[in-house]
Amino acid sequence: MDQADTQAQTRDLLMQKRSEILTKVDQLGAHDPAEVANLGFGKRIGDATAYAVERMTDAYQARTIYSTVAEIDQALERLEAGTYGRCVSCGRPIPEERLAAVPWAALCVPCSARPGKSKLVR
Ligand SMILES: [Zn+2]
Repeated sequence: MDQADTQAQTRDLLMQKRSEILTKVDQLGAHDPAEVANLGFGKRIGDATAYAVERMTDAYQARTIYSTVAEIDQALERLEAGTYGRCVSCGRPIPEERLAAVPWAALCVPCSARPGKSKLVR
C-alpha cells in the first residue's frame, strides 16, 4: 500500500468531515463561538434570560461542533507533520479500528479512557 495514497485519502476524509460539520453549523444557525458565548450577558438581564437559556443548548452544541472542527484541524496538522495515527499522549499507534470510527482521534483507547489524562500536558 502506497503511504502517500493513504495519507491523501485520510486528508480527503478529514476535509470532507470538516465541511460536513461546518454545513451542519450553518443549518443550526450557530455563529462565531465568541458571539454565542456573549449571549445573555448583556445589560437587559431580565429580557435576555429566557432567550439565553434557549440559546444555551445551541451554544453548547456549537461549542461541541467547533471543538470537533478543531480536532480535525489538529489531525490534519499531524498528517502534515507525519505524526498522524499516533497517540499525542503516549506516542503509541492508534488502532486502525479507532481511526476508522474517529479519523481525527488524537488519543489511543487507554489514554482517552484515563480520566484527567485526556488533555495534552505539554
Ligand atoms: Zn496513548
